[in-house]
Amino acid sequence: MRRKVVAGNWKMNGSSEFARAYCLEISSHLPVDDIDVVLFPPFPYLGIVALSDVAMGGQDCSVNASGAFTGDVSTEMLRDVGARYVLLGHSERRVMHGESDELVAQKCLSALKADLIPVLCVGESMQEREAGAAFDVVSGQVNAVLSVLSKAQLKRLVIAYEPVWAIGTGLTATPDQAQEMHQFIRASIANVDAEGAEVVSILYGGSVKSDNACELFAKNDIDGALVGGASLKVEEFIAICRAR
Ligand code: PGA
Repeated sequence: MRRKVVAGNWKMNGSSEFARAYCLEISSHLPVDDIDVVLFPPFPYLGIVALSDVAMGGQDCSVNASGAFTGDVSTEMLRDVGARYVLLGHSERRVMHGESDELVAQKCLSALKADLIPVLCVGESMQEREAGAAFDVVSGQVNAVLSVLSKAQLKRLVIAYEPVWAIGTGLTATPDQAQEMHQFIRASIANVDAEGAEVVSILYGGSVKSDNACELFAKNDIDGALVGGASLKVEEFIAICRAR
C-alpha cells in the first residue's frame, strides 16, 4: 500500500555533463521493480534531469511565491521545470541555514499547496542521542509539520529519517535502531491520523550503500532510502534501488 521510494540527494555536486551522463545511464535501468526513483540535483541541473524520465525534485524551496528573495526558488518554479518532489528540512539546511521546525513546516505546506511531494527530513544529532533525547527531537520535528497539515495533505507527505551522526560519516544506524525510530514516527502520525500512518512512506537516510541497503529495507517500517554520497555513483545508486 505504501509507495517504495529510493531518492538520490546530489547535494552541491555535479555538472551539466555529469547530469546528462547520469540520466542516460539510469534511464536505461528504469523502471526498477515497483519503486519510485527520484533525484534531487542542484537547481541549475533540474532542467537536464527533466529531459529524462527520472522523477526529480528541488533540494529546498521558498515559502514565498515570488518577489525580492534573492537566491530563493519558489514551489511554482520547481513545478514549472518539471519537479514533482522537494526535499525539506535536510539537516544541512537546519544547521547551516538555521531553518527552524516552524519554517520547515511552512515550507511543507507551501509545497503541498503547489502539488509537490515534500520529502521531510528529520533526525537527531549524536549529542542528542547520547543525551537520550533522540525521540523528543524527532517528535518535535515531525509534530511541527503534522500540526499544520490537513489529513488529506498529510497522506501525500514522505518522511526521511536521517540521524545527523549517520550522514556522510559511514556510520549507518543499525537496522534495529532505524526500525525503532521509523515505528515511533509512524506511531506519531497515527496519533493524528491512523489511516495516514499507513500510507506515509518513511525512508531511511545516512550512509546508505548497496551493501547495507538490503538489511535496512527488510524492516517493516522502512519504505526506502534517501541516499547522499552513494547516489553520486550511478552504478551504486542503481544497485541500492535494486536492493529495495
Ligand atoms: P549520505 O547523505 O548518504 O552521504 O550519508 C544522506 C543525506 O544527507 O541525505
